[in-house]
Amino acid sequence: MAQGKICGYAHETEEEDLACANESIGFSKRKGRGRGQESAGIVTSEGRCSKSFNVVKGMGMISNIFNDDAIRRLKGSIGIGHTRYSTSAASEEVNCQPFVVHTAHGALAVAHNGELVNCDSLRKQVLDHGVGLSTHSDSELITQALCLNPPEALSGDCDDSREAEGWVYVREVFPGEIIEMTRHGIRTIDIVTRPANKLQAFCIFEYVYFARSDSIFEGQMVYAVRMQCGRQLAIEQPVEADIVSAVPESGNAAAHGFSRQSGISFAEVLCKNSEKFGALSGNVKGKRVILIDDSIVRGNTIGPIIKLLKNAGATEVHIRVASPPLLYPCYMGINIPTREELIANKLNTKELALHVGADSLSYLSIEGLIKAVRSDLKTKNSHRVGHCTACLSGIYPGGIPNKDYDMEW
Ligand code: SF4
Repeated sequence: MAQGKICGYAHETEEEDLACANESIGFSKRKGRGRGQESAGIVTSEGRCSKSFNVVKGMGMISNIFNDDAIRRLKGSIGIGHTRYSTSAASEEVNCQPFVVHTAHGALAVAHNGELVNCDSLRKQVLDHGVGLSTHSDSELITQALCLNPPEALSGDCDDSREAEGWVYVREVFPGEIIEMTRHGIRTIDIVTRPANKLQAFCIFEYVYFARSDSIFEGQMVYAVRMQCGRQLAIEQPVEADIVSAVPESGNAAAHGFSRQSGISFAEVLCKNSEKFGALSGNVKGKRVILIDDSIVRGNTIGPIIKLLKNAGATEVHIRVASPPLLYPCYMGINIPTREELIANKLNTKELALHVGADSLSYLSIEGLIKAVRSDLKTKNSHRVGHCTACLSGIYPGGIPNKDYDMEW
């Protein structure tokens, strides 16, 4: 599982002890930024077709939920875990994940991130089969839909003779794919066939903002893509200056890319202590600075940084944003601020530059972002290449879902 996708994660070990839970918690503590956390849970199994699982979940921070007693209860060699920051279903205990249900084929635990765009029709199908749902969570819906319609391999007889099995990181799970991981490798159990006219729609904002730089998506490291965004930005929005720098840490990779492409030296101009910035005045004084950030969402942090640099002696500060303006909501499960909160909905680039005190301000284009993301994809021209840009372009891969909340945004 890619490290940036930490809302749900799986772990399997050959040691039938507490390593599973401890390791899983380690993963969750390293969650990607922007995801937040309001509840967390871990489910472990002692293997051999367990009739029940060991479950610890609840509201609050990971460190409070998984105390020593909880860890002791999480025995087993296989586990999945989840940290939650709600976007649609309420922030309540009943919505904590993983969901656990007892099915005709044994116990089933599901951890899931995101929202189903077809949840209304799927909910109706499940309810029509006489299955009651206890929450409005899409994740519970997936769990019950799986129980109703299990892929063949899940509903097969349980093989009690199998040994405890280990796993290694090999690849991402494709959209609509169910896999089985064993010590012998990965096997696709089922995959939804993609209609010929439908491209994949991988979230492009994972590359821009959400994912950790060392995550790997589509066979490429996020850090490398961000550098490429910086290179593309230098091509699209050049400006004369003495140094290129970054808002740490979010703009670092793109700033190095911008510097290499433009030939303007990179120099650090900011240090960060306890969430507060300080200016490295020796690097700034008398300099025209290009300052790179990965995105501007609300626009309330960049202004004070520019002021800091100018107070430290910068003669000019030019802001270059390594992503296009964020303008629209996400209906696929990413929590994006409201229309009123998004600064790009209120001010154009000239107005925003004036508002934050920059000498100029420019964004990367949508086409440039797509070009940067796809420049090193191994699977070029494959049906698997396709990216959602809806929060930037307003073009939704599956159309705008008919949900109440889309009117609220
Ligand atoms: S709308 Fe934006 S945040 Fe949501 S999936 Fe698409 S690219 Fe990602």
